[in-house]
Amino acid sequence: MSGQNVSRRRFISEASAGAAVAVTAGVVGACGDVVKKADKLAALGGTPVRTEPYPKWPQPTTAIEESLVSTFRSGSWGRRLGEGRHGVGQVGLFEKRFAELIGTKHCLATGSCTQALHTALHSVGVGAGDEVLVTPCTYIASIQAVLLCDALPVFVDVDIDTFQMDPDKIEPLVNENTRAVEPVHIGGLPCDMGRIMAVADKHDLKVVEDAAQAHLAEFKGKKCGTFGDLGCFSFQTSKVIACGEGGAIVGNDEEVMEKCYAFHNIGMGTTRGSVGIGTKYRMNEFEAAVLNPQFATLPEQTQTRNENAAYLARRLEEIPGIAPQKLHDGFTKGAYYIYGFRYQKEHFNDAPKEKFLRALRGEGLRFTTMYFDQLNTQPFIENALNSRTFQKVFSTERLNRYREQNHCPSNDQLHAEGVWLPQYAFLGSKKLMDEIADAMVKIHDNRDQLAKL
Ligand SMILES: *Cc1c(COP(=O)(O)O)cnc(C)c1O
Repeated sequence: MSGQNVSRRRFISEASAGAAVAVTAGVVGACGDVVKKADKLAALGGTPVRTEPYPKWPQPTTAIEESLVSTFRSGSWGRRLGEGRHGVGQVGLFEKRFAELIGTKHCLATGSCTQALHTALHSVGVGAGDEVLVTPCTYIASIQAVLLCDALPVFVDVDIDTFQMDPDKIEPLVNENTRAVEPVHIGGLPCDMGRIMAVADKHDLKVVEDAAQAHLAEFKGKKCGTFGDLGCFSFQTSKVIACGEGGAIVGNDEEVMEKCYAFHNIGMGTTRGSVGIGTKYRMNEFEAAVLNPQFATLPEQTQTRNENAAYLARRLEEIPGIAPQKLHDGFTKGAYYIYGFRYQKEHFNDAPKEKFLRALRGEGLRFTTMYFDQLNTQPFIENALNSRTFQKVFSTERLNRYREQNHCPSNDQLHAEGVWLPQYAFLGSKKLMDEIADAMVKIHDNRDQLAKL
């Protein structure tokens, strides 16, 4: 696309963004091009691009309120047991509907996705001395779930463009103790599950998908969470279907799901007999009562987020140094729990990310950098390696080799460059998308001011 087209597109979108936008004071050149605009960054006392709050999340609807009150009055507050796997209460109803929505035979609700991941890994057979391939670009819970199984989380570096576990980097890390791979659909965008499943099949690895951010996301028309042995979801407050704290495991294998049920139910299977070791990870009726009415809103909200994200991506194309999380070929739908992009400082006079973030905040935008932590180098890893259990279960030679190989340079780069916008912004109007893009255009145009922040 020619520079002139880009400029014209920028001009049109800014001109249509209305009086609330403070960046329309640009000088229009002779051929209609917008030339660099002198404006003051809001963080330095200028007028912010956006002043209104983002759409509210979570959404306390009347339907949820009524559902909660009715559960409260029923006196049935804990999961209804003893009536088959699902029981008859709100939790049972939720499990049936969620399995149907995602397209698996079974669903088991849990108290969180952390619990779901621990349960799932345990139930596919991950245990002491095993190794699980993980990604460093995720929430700490994905890694803690592996440690809870007394297994070694082996970090696979990310693809710098998609932010996902790089399928090409999996195979060199596989050894005779590798039991499973745990892909995370980060950002609510699907991993390349075709290539990940191919490596997993070749080496006979179990696959537990962390789909905590990826409700209704699809790879080649198939939903995230349905590719591997088990898929895990979160319903924590910030997630796209939310109840405070909650999680679920989906899968098709009756026997593995029965293992999950027993593990989450202090070792007791659906027939109530004690069959194995277990903890208590049950979802309660109130959580399911909050979730059930959201089946009516999730598909449409997902559609809105996809449309807004596609629109924003087109607007961001015009800004040098803003590189959105890339959609690979198999992408068919996103959940857009968060919308990620890389801030490339070389296009912003080398101003560090912190200054860019200060400028963004000043213009009225909200964001997080949470999932761009360098989990592979955080102290909890070294502390786990030095724990009595790990010292007993893994050889000194293995742990030393682990320390030597535990490098993820692409993820380090993501840590330095990555920014996420929250999903509820994408429930807003096109105007909000324009304001997000306008704020970044403004910061880019006035990048010489970033040094003063
Ligand atoms: C939120 C999240 C989790 C943990 O979910 P909880 O329900 O909070 O336990 C795990 N993995 C990822 C990628 C997440 O975003």
